[in-house]
Amino acid sequence: MSLAITLDDLLHRPDLGDIVKDIHTRIHDAGHGWILDQAAAATRDTNNTLTAAAAATGSNLLTLRLPEHPDWVRLGFLDTIARWVTGQAATCTHNPHPARPQPILTAAWKPGLVVCSACAHLLQLPKGSARDRTCDGCGVIVPGSGTIWSTAVTHGGLVYQVGVCEPCRYWPLPAAA
Ligand SMILES: [Zn+2]
Ligand SMILES: [Zn+2]
Repeated sequence: MSLAITLDDLLHRPDLGDIVKDIHTRIHDAGHGWILDQAAAATRDTNNTLTAAAAATGSNLLTLRLPEHPDWVRLGFLDTIARWVTGQAATCTHNPHPARPQPILTAAWKPGLVVCSACAHLLQLPKGSARDRTCDGCGVIVPGSGTIWSTAVTHGGLVYQVGVCEPCRYWPLPAAA
């Protein structure tokens, strides 16, 4: 978790925009601008996929800044990414790598597993199973009569899926139609 917390501190810095700009400039100057182009393409792909998924399920997309997510979401997401960039995550057989930006999927219920978009099924839990109905926030198993909310948090081309019980839902519902 320690690297995740370091990243979290970084993401809370008021000068984050300048730091990111500086990193981008250095990557460009080093002749690796294509990585930025690939990362931008992965971000677009991910946003298009989520927009289509939201439309298909009658869900809505919200833009929250990372600090607006609760600690357990932020740190879980960052921990999986930290494991991935340091070579300590499990991956699908396509071996997605941080140096080859592409849409990447992760889930709160499979910490440390990183898969490409073709391998989304590796993150699925048996429908209706106790694990499928377990809240990732508080660990309660939501009975079949209750609602378990599925959401996907994204940052760039990275997606972190989360399932939560009603008390742990931290985003607002859309205004009733
Ligand atoms: Zn794969
Ligand atoms: Zn909960």
